[in-house]
Amino acid sequence: RNSYVSCFDFYNDEQHGKELYAERLINDMDRALSEKQFRVFYQPKYSITGSQPRLSSAEALIRWFHPEFGMVSPGQFISLFEENGLIQKLDRFVWNEAAAQIRQWKDCYGIDIPVSVNVSRVNMFNAHLADILENIAAQNGLDHAELLLEITESAYTDNSDQIVEAVNKLRMCGFRIEMDDFGSGYSSLNMLTTLPIDALKLDMKFIREICENEKNERLVGIMIDIARLLEVPVIAEGVETKEQMELLKRLGCNIIQGYYFSKPLPPEEFGILIEKELREKKDAYN
Ligand code: C2E
Ligand code: MG
Ligand code: MG
Ligand code: MG
Repeated sequence: RNSYVSCFDFYNDEQHGKELYAERLINDMDRALSEKQFRVFYQPKYSITGSQPRLSSAEALIRWFHPEFGMVSPGQFISLFEENGLIQKLDRFVWNEAAAQIRQWKDCYGIDIPVSVNVSRVNMFNAHLADILENIAAQNGLDHAELLLEITESAYTDNSDQIVEAVNKLRMCGFRIEMDDFGSGYSSLNMLTTLPIDALKLDMKFIREICENEKNERLVGIMIDIARLLEVPVIAEGVETKEQMELLKRLGCNIIQGYYFSKPLPPEEFGILIEKELREKKDAYN
């Protein structure tokens, strides 16, 4: 055999392995839901506009603890589930969990922590989306503004008229929309000025090199200027160091999410952050 052929075989094996893995994830999804293998983790977002960072909200991020494969990250299954409709069920599960969690934090700590959930582009085409979310909010006694909706920038360009219409409807119902991964899609500048959104979330690839790369710093500055023009707050995600946080603060960024403050946490551990926040707030008044 020459090396070209064995290379080719290797590629086929690898490809085959990937397909089998994907097939397993798809087949296992239903059971995983009923057996509670999926858990929602929460990553805090901190407001940095005052003298001290303040816990302002959280993002709900799905985790799959698979009995055979261990922890499977959403990067491995979200787009897979988007291809065959499973994402509808999964996202709905996350919205319910997140709403119940907001309720629990209210009851337990007397604190309102809005939680943002990721809404897959696929769900944006569901004519009942607003009703589903309204029901979830009502069942948990929440204001619609407490359940923030993250929609990735690239979804806006899939079928922009339909998406913009869906977003308008959600906002009319009182839900607030954060545009996720801003800068990684390709919204036209013209579209941006007419877009119905309530916050811009900068894609973390711009943050990664912000301190090393002068051009990245300026680019982020420009994106923050765009947010100012649109009169919406800016959230930076993927912030890992103090230097990044301070630079972003200087550039006018409002809210920070990233490992610098905390990784996504199971609800019990997030509770500890809330207790810390409450202690600091109390100290600030004394
Ligand atoms: P995203 O919504 O942009 O979420 C940000 C991702 O960045 C999360 O990855 C988070 O864990 C990670 N991250 C946060 N801070 C840092 C940091 O400082 N450094 C680094 N290196 N990473 C950080 P995760 O949880 O693996 O989620 C990946 C993507 O999967 C999400 O990107 C989102 O698009 C999607 N996703 C997650 N949960 C859901 C869900 O419930 N529904 C839908 N439709 N999509 C979801
Ligand atoms: Mg997100
Ligand atoms: Mg993002
Ligand atoms: Mg995020």
